[in-house]
Amino acid sequence: GMMAKPAMSATPTQNALAPRLADFSTLAEALDYAALGHTGLNFYDGRCRLTAVVPYAEVRREARALARRLHGLGLRRGDRVALIADTEPGFMEAFYGCQYAGFIPVPLPIPSGLGSHAAYVEKLASLLKSCEPSAVLAPAAWLPFAQEAAASFRTLFVGSVDEMKGRAVPPVELEPSRPDEVAYLQYTSGSTRFPRGVVVTQQAAMANLQGMIRDGLGVRPGDRCVSWLPFYHDMGLVGFVLGPMASQLSVDYLRTQDFAMRPRQWLNLISQNRGTISFAPPFGYDLCARRVREGEAAQFDLSSWRIAGTGAEPIRAEVLERFAEQFAPAGFARTAFLPCYGLAECTLGASFGRRGAGVVVDRIERHALEHQSMAVPFGGEESQASTFVNCGAVLPGHRLEIRDEAGRSLPERRVGRVMLQGPSVMSGYFRDEESTQAALDGGWLDTGDLGYLSAGELFITGRQKDLLIVRGRNIWPQDVEYLVESQSEVRPGDVIAFLVPAVPDPQVVVQVQCRVSDPEKRKQLVRALAGLISSEFGFIALVELVPPHSLPRTSSGKPSRAEARKRFLAQAQSAPGLSMVCG
Ligand code: ATP
Ligand code: MG
Repeated sequence: GMMAKPAMSATPTQNALAPRLADFSTLAEALDYAALGHTGLNFYDGRCRLTAVVPYAEVRREARALARRLHGLGLRRGDRVALIADTEPGFMEAFYGCQYAGFIPVPLPIPSGLGSHAAYVEKLASLLKSCEPSAVLAPAAWLPFAQEAAASFRTLFVGSVDEMKGRAVPPVELEPSRPDEVAYLQYTSGSTRFPRGVVVTQQAAMANLQGMIRDGLGVRPGDRCVSWLPFYHDMGLVGFVLGPMASQLSVDYLRTQDFAMRPRQWLNLISQNRGTISFAPPFGYDLCARRVREGEAAQFDLSSWRIAGTGAEPIRAEVLERFAEQFAPAGFARTAFLPCYGLAECTLGASFGRRGAGVVVDRIERHALEHQSMAVPFGGEESQASTFVNCGAVLPGHRLEIRDEAGRSLPERRVGRVMLQGPSVMSGYFRDEESTQAALDGGWLDTGDLGYLSAGELFITGRQKDLLIVRGRNIWPQDVEYLVESQSEVRPGDVIAFLVPAVPDPQVVVQVQCRVSDPEKRKQLVRALAGLISSEFGFIALVELVPPHSLPRTSSGKPSRAEARKRFLAQAQSAPGLSMVCG
């Protein structure tokens, strides 16, 4: 008969090792230390059942074996190894295998499920072209995509980690990456352009990890991480793969695909394992608040959750407040919210809110913001307010400045370009001198974001490239999108606003994913939305209804306004009905 498999149990939260908070000079050194304890990584399926338990000791052992096998393929030091980064143990072996072998791992996205096969393969091929890997490793399920995408390149090997395991381990002397060498390449999300590969050195990674772990999160013994964030996005990789490893914490992983289908499993995992640290972009909190019905929240126990981080996108205080209110019966503390600002070009984290402060907002005069780029504290009765979330002070050892178009440093409460300097900032994009030159200015990184400082703390107002400049007024596309999303026919994430050239004035286009099929109802909806925008913002927008799931998003789920704009203009050229817009 069948033998009952012994029940797996997750790695412990407590560790007998003396905690060391990222005070290592390389990732390999950090893993050598974590491997001395009993903590590690736990993988769950969509019903929160354990599918794999991998203590750091085992991650290290397997990584070192894989490192030797990769050498056996003929790879040379500094070669890139592309990894199709699904949430599974093989990723860890491959990523750390590269660390021990002196290769450069490059995590790449998995297919999204919504886009077409061809579109994914094409994107993958472009990414491979830009990082020129010697080998591509993919989980068995995605191997055919990887083979197709790599077909036109001269790679030494395209295969899976499992396939590699069948190979002999050559007796190669391992020489792990040194502190001044490249640790990995991190692609940006591709919100405003095709993703760029950020070169992250060991030193930059360790500097950022140390700042986040000690100063941002204040990691302490007894912490446990829970994450559904993809390993190919910086928040998932640095925040929930490298960070816990460098501080010897156990992590519980849910696949991003499973979270998207069953968001409550995130909260189940935290409840079940008494998780203390978990992050999500605002849409993750929003999704949970919408999916869990009233009265159901008490099923969860979120009282252990001490850091509920958020960032990666503009943060709306209302969304987080709604979540906090809804999950208060589960013991969720609103003070657990930790708003952060970060970007791949700075490894991950640039600024963190104050721990224990929760969501701190600044209400400012919208008129002064739109016309003078000034953040004037809201006072008057008549004027409308804009609200921004405090993203805290820049990490210790780093500097942050707000500058105007001419590059002059601006005083507090003036909105301008957010510039960063410090040890976590990249030296450049991989083999892309032009983009590097555009982003770096005398050792300072131009983040492409706009924001202001108040009492030394940062408020991000939006992306420079996405700003809607209408007759001299600066309008934030997210404000227009939120307004439209607040209508009952529209759901969050269904709207994208962007500006296109037109005569006599540039035109704001608002695309709305819509499930309504009745033509009369659609017309009414368009009229209602245009009226709403006009009464709130004072301009006439071109409202266009588009099919569900048709608006472009990045692999990490962010709206891609630039891509939407590009597609719109391409279509406008061929459609005479839209000739009012000159493309
Ligand atoms: P690309 O650079 O390829 O266009 P991306 O900028 O979205 O894509 P990431 O590095 O993953 O790629 O994301 C960083 C960006 O996310 C920041 O530059 C900023 O625009 C946005 N962001 C991060 N944190 C916040 C925050 N707290 N508030 C507002 N925006 C944020
Ligand atoms: Mg960017």
